[in-house]
Amino acid sequence: MSVADNIRRVHDRVAAACIRANRDPDEVTLVGISKLKTVDEIVGAIDAGLQHIGENRVEEAISKIPLVRARTSRPVTWHMVGHVQSRKARQVVDCFDVAQSVDSVRLARRLSRFAAEKGRELDALLEINVSGEASKYGFRGYNWYRDAAVRSGLLEAIDEVTQLPNLKARGLMTMAPFGVDEATIRRVFADLYSLREELQTVAGARLPVLSMGMTDDFELAIEEGATMVRVGRAIFGARA
Ligand SMILES: *Cc1c(COP(=O)(O)O)cnc(C)c1O
Repeated sequence: MSVADNIRRVHDRVAAACIRANRDPDEVTLVGISKLKTVDEIVGAIDAGLQHIGENRVEEAISKIPLVRARTSRPVTWHMVGHVQSRKARQVVDCFDVAQSVDSVRLARRLSRFAAEKGRELDALLEINVSGEASKYGFRGYNWYRDAAVRSGLLEAIDEVTQLPNLKARGLMTMAPFGVDEATIRRVFADLYSLREELQTVAGARLPVLSMGMTDDFELAIEEGATMVRVGRAIFGARA
């Protein structure tokens, strides 16, 4: 299977999931996750029509993105999807269009400040740890609808982040746990969906983007309301 075939198949699966969920496939943006993949492989995917690409490590991304840019004239939107250490915030602003993994107000402030220095705006998603796993980054979101402290923490965070001048909060992002049953995965996605509704209603934020779903669970995510899926292996093949 070529990368072009893989992209076609993923688009078909996205469309089928949308039909099952009574949704318009145009509502769902496919982001190809190219971590550990070569510049050649990424350029191949762009030539095959992929328009959104995500990386999870700043170091790796800053070495590859300029090389990819030099080899294609097609427009690409670059997404940072991995944890960002504060000291790397400036590099994120230099290379990426969207920071999907904004997991603290402190990081959000730094990204806004560096974006201001460059005279630009950076699109952002707030990463929410809905599953409650200790291994995951993100704002605390486990049981947000039952835990008043968690809920008010999230409302405060969204208030602060939406006031930053050069960071544009567009929505929320989460990762489902690995190796759990389908019902548990669905609940994580459904909890992110309802959190988005809550933040829009109570905090008055506009958060159209819900980034959830990867190779193993993107169809479930679409059925639960994802507007953006982050797919690595189903596009680029297994990682070394
Ligand atoms: C690697 C990664 C993905 C894609 O994972 P696959 O299982 O290869 O589709 C999506 N989101 C994040 C944050 C990742 O790190």
